[in-house]
Formats: sequence, structure tokens, C-alpha cells
Amino acid sequence: MYRKEDSVETLLIHAGELEGGVEGALVLPVFQSSTYRYSGEESYEELRYVRLSNTPNHRVLHEKLAALEGGEAALVCSSGMAAISTTLLTLLKPGDHMLIQRTLYGGTDGFVENELAELGIKYDFVDTRKPEEWNSKYREETRLIYVEAISNPLMQVGDLGEVVRFAREKGILSVIDNTFATPINFRPLTIGFDLVLHSVTKYLNGHSDLVAGAVIGSQELITRIRRRSLHLGGSADPHTCFLIQRGLKTLALRVRYQNQSALAIARFLKGHAAIREVHYPGLEDHPDYEIASKLFSSFGGMLSFELKSGYTGARKLIDNLRIPVEAPSLGGPESLITLPVTTSHSSVPVERRNELGITDGLIRLSVGLEGVQDLIDDLSQALESSLI
Ligand SMILES: *Cc1c(COP(=O)(O)O)cnc(C)c1O
Repeated sequence: MYRKEDSVETLLIHAGELEGGVEGALVLPVFQSSTYRYSGEESYEELRYVRLSNTPNHRVLHEKLAALEGGEAALVCSSGMAAISTTLLTLLKPGDHMLIQRTLYGGTDGFVENELAELGIKYDFVDTRKPEEWNSKYREETRLIYVEAISNPLMQVGDLGEVVRFAREKGILSVIDNTFATPINFRPLTIGFDLVLHSVTKYLNGHSDLVAGAVIGSQELITRIRRRSLHLGGSADPHTCFLIQRGLKTLALRVRYQNQSALAIARFLKGHAAIREVHYPGLEDHPDYEIASKLFSSFGGMLSFELKSGYTGARKLIDNLRIPVEAPSLGGPESLITLPVTTSHSSVPVERRNELGITDGLIRLSVGLEGVQDLIDDLSQALESSLI
């Protein structure tokens, strides 16, 4: 049995789990059944069926995710983008307007600028670090403000407390993608956000072996989003739910270790002669250090940095590394390294990239669970050999 007030470590293990288990099993089995016997359900939504996200694997996982973020309810989806698109398609209709953070995850940005725009849903970008500018972008039709806890790839942290205050003052919803921070470092609902989104693919599952998403918030909002998801169909399958439930149990241990390793690596890089700039909100001279320290208990496992030698040096460095794998995505046990201009931000025009500070030589690192000294030694040797 768990209590809502239990520590996050206890919630990760016990929240949602069926008391007594199925046949006494400690671990909830995978209910690999698409449909269930009719037992007097009175509405379509109550029928048990995988697309309706209400099988035992869904229900247990929903309760664990809700407890973890401190929300009333949760919905797991087939990908982070399924959670994001289903949520926005529930909350917005043609003619509506929203305020969005200028540097969004590429998929979200593409969805808003292409799909939603085509449906007649309008938006304006805001700089989340400049609340004084938001009012001039607000319109009668504005329905929500959408931000990310830590932005990719420069690891910027906006004035998130102000986002909540602004949303309440205007009577609009505040929605946040908490993928990079994770509920171990930051729980947005506790400072007043209405909805939290995750790409569960990343830290929550944490093992680079599946794609999933989640949205967490009040029962009323999640019920509306689930209703829309029944028709859009982006539900997660039971085996995915099972794997997420398993991955979540070690979330606190993994994230805390990744927090520490990322800080140690950021400090090492900061002091290196070949490095121009390190972007990590846990470094005291990062422009968002103060705000991040106020909001977060720690600063996450993601960082980015720029070499003095630009793109050529960055390419050499990546080729000379032994441990980190060059691959997109993040939050898994393996350290992953990428050049955002060739992956996540390749579709962003060069002028806009430069405006945002995403230079050709920028390198993004998702710090994995390897020994931190091995990673530092590896970066050190690769930096030396990329100078030659
Ligand atoms: C990966 C990611 C997404 C999209 O998630 P998928 O699971 O790939 O659909 C959304 N937001 C952020 C911040 C991400 O890193």
C-alpha cells in the first residue's frame, strides 16, 4: 500500500500496484489481450479494449504516473508526440490561439507550425525568460501557454513560475513538457501547471527500448484528452505499459546518478582550453542558474557545448570518442551524442538557428549510466586528439 505523501522513491515502486497481485505475483503480468468479456458496461468508453487505454496494464501505469507527478490522473500514449498532439487537439479548436516557447522540441514545433496551423489554430512565439513581453502577444482567443521545462539544445530554463501566474491571471491553461527535467528534479503540477507532458521514451522508461508518451493533470482534463484519444487512436499497447512500469522503478536512482555525472562533465568541459561554451543550467555562470536552482532539485542529465574549432572540431571529437554513441534521443543508459544541426534541428533554417544560438559546432550530450570518470577520460582523450 502507498500513500500520496510517500517519497517519490516509494511511489515509483508501490503506487498503482494491485494489492495482493494477480495470483500473488509480485509483478503485474502483461495482459496480452486486445479485448475483454462484456460485463455490463453502459458506455463505449467503459468497454475494455486496448485502444481505450483501460486494460489492467494501463490502469496500474496511469496511477503510478499520476502519483509520480502529483496529479489526479494520467494517460499513457503510443509516443511523446501522440501525447502532445492528442492534448493540443483536445484543448484547441479552429480560431483559437496559443502562446508557445520559441525553442520547442522539433516534432512539437513542426506539429504546431504545420498541422495545427492548417486547422486554423494560431500561435505566437514567446521568450520564456521575458515575461514582460507576453502580454502584448495575448489575444482574446488565446487558450493556453505551452513551454518546456528545459529547452533543447541550449538547456535554457524559462521563468516557469511566471508562466503559471500569467496563465491564471488570463484564465488560460498552462501546459509543460517535462521530459528533460523528469519528476525527480521538477514536478510542475506542484507549482500550478495544469498539464504535464512526457516523452516516456526518454527518462521515464529509461532503457532506449520503446517509444511512448504521457500526459498528467486533473481528472477533468485527462478525461477530455482520453476521449479524444479514443478516436485519434494513439494508445500504448500493454507490453509497452509493462516495460514502462518496470523502467519507472529505477527512475530516481538513474536520474540522480545522471544529474551528478552531467554536472561533473559540465565542470570538466568548462575548464578545458578547447571549449568555447558549455550549456548546463547547473553551472553557476549559466544565465538561468538562479531560476533553475529555485525551481529544480537538480539540473538533469543533458548538456551541450561548443568547441572553439567549430563544426570540423566537433565532427572530429565525436569520431574520436570511444564510449558515447552518436545517435539522436536521450535519457537511456548509454551516453548519446549528437550534432543538433544534423539531427534535431536540421530542418530549422540556418538564419533561425543562428538567431537561436544553435551553431554548427554545437554538440549535445545525453549523459548515460556509465562510470563518470570513464566518460570524462574519454572526452579528454577525444578533445586532445581533435586538436591535432
Ligand atoms: C523526444 C521528445 C518528444 C517526442 O517524443 P517521442 O516519444 O519521440 O514521440 C517530445 N518532447 C521532448 C522534449 C522530447 O525530447
